[in-house]
Amino acid sequence: MNIPARMRAMILEKPGQALVEKEVPTPQPAPDQVLVRVHACGVCRTDLHIVDQELPNPKLPLILGHEIVGQVVRTGQQVKRFKIGERVGVPWLGHTCGSCRYCTRGQENLCDSAQFTGYTIDGGFAEYTVADQRYCFPIPPRFGDTEAAPLLCAGLIGYRTYRMAGDNLASMGIFGFGAAAHIVAQIAVHQGVRVFAFTRPGDKAAQDFAKSLGAEWAGDSTEAPPEKLDACIIFAPVGSLIPQALSITAKGGSVVSGGIHMSDIPSFPYSLLWEERVVRSVANLTRQDGEELLEVAAQVPVKTAVQLYPLNKANEALDHLRSGKLEGAAVLQILSP
Ligand SMILES: [Zn+2]
Ligand SMILES: [Zn+2]
Repeated sequence: MNIPARMRAMILEKPGQALVEKEVPTPQPAPDQVLVRVHACGVCRTDLHIVDQELPNPKLPLILGHEIVGQVVRTGQQVKRFKIGERVGVPWLGHTCGSCRYCTRGQENLCDSAQFTGYTIDGGFAEYTVADQRYCFPIPPRFGDTEAAPLLCAGLIGYRTYRMAGDNLASMGIFGFGAAAHIVAQIAVHQGVRVFAFTRPGDKAAQDFAKSLGAEWAGDSTEAPPEKLDACIIFAPVGSLIPQALSITAKGGSVVSGGIHMSDIPSFPYSLLWEERVVRSVANLTRQDGEELLEVAAQVPVKTAVQLYPLNKANEALDHLRSGKLEGAAVLQILSP
């Protein structure tokens, strides 16, 4: 295969500034890396947090993007899991040490020296990327490239958030009906969980979208649903949603926040937490989460709603995400089929 020496990429030179389209050298795979021709890369709220300076110490200059779907076009000498021509997904978790106290007890998502795609290592807002083969996933054939992209973070982290909400849920509230919620709602409904969707006040379009995906009830985030729910999961980066969600969660239920960043949580009376309610966050993903989610998503099967943008319109995609203008997930289509 003819691989050009240089590639187009959207580069974050400095947080707070728009991405800049540039030609840069095509990366070369290290012994345990694959070189991937990027077909599609999802745009995630975390990308926005990095651009908006809400996350500390990104690699700079940086190629964002951690929902990568593409084809392996070159392999390092030690690569055994993938062959040239295979389709892979590259997620947020890019590397872990394998030896810290978290890695050794099955919590690699919390690894002390983890590397993250599109944050501490370059990601997929580019024509090519390299990735450690051990953290890549094969993509189920039933999903097209652009359809699969949102599964790799919105789907994965959303699924981990949903799993953390507890087993045997009969009902669940979802706050923030964007990319993650639209995937998790389909899985939860498929598994017999009654879904209640909460959106920005007055966002009728998002409420209708939630209902179209099987939500039994959809309303404003400030509204109380008709009954207390077994758990709530929160994808909107709004701290005041924590006490709000607690107030509608039944005894013993969990409120789980799936985001990497949130505005401050206001103080609230202990009575909201009492009766064994739990508040927790979810951080990153394990490889097992990824394997499970891709299997479950193919079973349902999850249908992702995507809005496509060319690579050089990445800033526009980020703006649309910031202003809440998207239904489903934004995806950069970098190589047309
Ligand atoms: Zn570790
Ligand atoms: Zn993400």
